[in-house]
Amino acid sequence: MQVTPVVRTLARSLETPFLLMDLSYVRNNYYDIINHVNNVRVFYAVKANSHPRIVSLLNTLGSSFDVASRGEIDKLLSLNITPDRMSFGNTIKKIEDIKYAHSVGVEYFAADSEMEIEKIAAHAPGSKVYVRIMTTGSDSDWPLSKKFGTDVEHVISILRYADNLGLDAYGVSFHVGSQNYNVANWEKAIIEAAKVFKVLRTEGINLRMINLGGGMPVKHIKEIPSVKEIGDVINRAIERELSFVPNLEVFIEPGRSMVGNAGILVSQVILRSRKGNEDWVYADAGVFHGLTETIENFRYEIIVDGKQDDKKEIFTLAGPSCDSIDTIYEKVELPKTIGYGDILYFINAGAYTTEYATNFNGIKAPGVYFVEDFTLAESEFFQDEKGFEQDL
Ligand SMILES: *Cc1c(COP(=O)(O)O)cnc(C)c1O
Repeated sequence: MQVTPVVRTLARSLETPFLLMDLSYVRNNYYDIINHVNNVRVFYAVKANSHPRIVSLLNTLGSSFDVASRGEIDKLLSLNITPDRMSFGNTIKKIEDIKYAHSVGVEYFAADSEMEIEKIAAHAPGSKVYVRIMTTGSDSDWPLSKKFGTDVEHVISILRYADNLGLDAYGVSFHVGSQNYNVANWEKAIIEAAKVFKVLRTEGINLRMINLGGGMPVKHIKEIPSVKEIGDVINRAIERELSFVPNLEVFIEPGRSMVGNAGILVSQVILRSRKGNEDWVYADAGVFHGLTETIENFRYEIIVDGKQDDKKEIFTLAGPSCDSIDTIYEKVELPKTIGYGDILYFINAGAYTTEYATNFNGIKAPGVYFVEDFTLAESEFFQDEKGFEQDL
């Protein structure tokens, strides 16, 4: 999302920090996936940004949803999303949550262990289960792999166990790691998944679904493959590896790529100081107030309002709270002249920002605004300004 005149006007008039979203990007992102991955059914990963306006828009477009907890299920139910559009994709679930999901009518459940299968078989009998393959998470900025999934042999035996316990052994899922730059990783995972389908087929267990997870990247400071490029690789790999599965269902669970480029996190400089030979800049947003992913050095493009062409130098950039982990970047290039009150735009920050934000230290989490609501306000603003000049 660009820093447009509307964005600049709002940055001067709303209390910072805040996340400004443009829903037209979300709409385009949804269609980009539908148009480039064959026969795909989208399950938006709600945890990336669960704002009701985003969820409701995606619901209207026909999306389904990947949920991780009873809280997310309830949020979607309150927005009139029907349970047949939800998949319980967290492999770590409380029994109470499994029971609840089953009681309201959620049909799809993820697992990557025997115990989870036992919990689902006991409390959501007959459900469709899919089991997650471990990936290396290589070439991704936010790997998820160690914690989730297991090796192919184990996935096969877990699905066999699910079948034995009367569950519907439905399919295989993976996640290549969030913000993944390498299209080859989707192909590798599909090849692994196909092995599971093939072995179980010989035993009369016919899986019907492959879940491609998330991982599609958002443009920050490195080049990224397009959705079309990733889609082409996925389509070819599925065609080659899984054409023996009649009416294969293809699920995908984009989180970051659905909302990341639809938002700008707007913050303000509240202090500049020099310590020894280091220059520090402190913003009113930090790792507790929207920029959580920077703790693993996740890199956003930062634009300093009106100073883009100034000479740059290296700064340490930190947040406002009383904790030293609230340091955004140890080394980042910022304009030499940066100072109190300068507006910082963290570009394409619509995913995993406000969702993680806290009120730590009594500092309010960033508000969320939608540009659609302000187009009128902007024209009024410019009119006022002009009127003021005319009065002079
Ligand atoms: C978080 C998550 C996603 C979304 O991943 P992105 O990299 O944000 O697209 C998809 N599936 C599952 C199971 C997840 O936990």
